[in-house]
Amino acid sequence: MKANLEGEKYRQGRIEVVCGSMFSGKTEELIRRIKRATFARQRVVIFKPQIDTRYSEEEVVSHDRNAVMSVPLSTSTEILEYVQNHTTSTEGYDFDVVGIDEAQFFGMDLVEVCNQLANNGVRVIIAGLDMDFQCTPFGPIPALCAVADEVTKVHAICVKCGALAYVSHRLVHDQNQVLIGEQTEYEPLCRECYKKATNK
Ligand SMILES: [Zn+2]
Repeated sequence: MKANLEGEKYRQGRIEVVCGSMFSGKTEELIRRIKRATFARQRVVIFKPQIDTRYSEEEVVSHDRNAVMSVPLSTSTEILEYVQNHTTSTEGYDFDVVGIDEAQFFGMDLVEVCNQLANNGVRVIIAGLDMDFQCTPFGPIPALCAVADEVTKVHAICVKCGALAYVSHRLVHDQNQVLIGEQTEYEPLCRECYKKATNK
């Protein structure tokens, strides 16, 4: 039985989803959970889709000797390959926690990958946009919410009225679902303000 310094009994693998609009603090919540795990000397890795070119591979969590690198990958099967290639143990994987940021940009096979990790004792923490800028469920996130052990929906604040935001409204005219850009190209809006802004 592995020691767990978080005051919780060692658990089997699990899937946790942190979803919400932009500016809702999803990544911050992912990092908070990852950081807590590194304090407990758990073995941690974070993946993010290669499509997110705003950042290169970088250290996202650092505490003395504990540093967690965020590894950019193109496909979700590469997540499994990375974990397997960095495992020497014959019993399970050499990672306690796998974080996946911006998970909406991975394909639907991410669901199977996360299940396989969790079924092999890994705690999988996923952060991603639940909806795109047109309020359409985004990529594998809805399916991941369905198979998750725990789902946390976080909210930004509507820039128009101060209510809890519902969607990331795109301020530029581009119909592609995937638009990586500066944060100034989006604003968080509540349902009512989104209706007004889009004349729906
Ligand atoms: Zn509003």
